[in-house]
Amino acid sequence: MAPGTIKSWRSLPIDQAHAEEDLLNQFKRKVEELRLQAKDLDERELAIYLSQKPCPNCLSGLSSDAPAGVLKQFSSQEPFKGLKLRVRWDPKRVEMPRTTKEIIIKGGKYED
Ligand SMILES: [Zn+2]
Repeated sequence: MAPGTIKSWRSLPIDQAHAEEDLLNQFKRKVEELRLQAKDLDERELAIYLSQKPCPNCLSGLSSDAPAGVLKQFSSQEPFKGLKLRVRWDPKRVEMPRTTKEIIIKGGKYED
């Protein structure tokens, strides 16, 4: 996978190049290739499906002042600020019953 501008804030190899990072960079490259702008993406939804819940480093900074993980980096930059990012994961991999299996992110924050 080619590196992109969205990048883990952590430097250890184990914290790098998670599926989220790769997917978001792929999407970003496609948007640039098609020359899409904020007005083309606002109020649209990008859904990504993962085998497991994003790790704390990928989730970092959402609705907080912690360093921005890849999800916040993506969703708080132009032209993606108005795009709804739905992140779902395999419910069989959720540790506890009734734990959420989906999060929605917009503008770098969790959406209810
Ligand atoms: Zn991660």
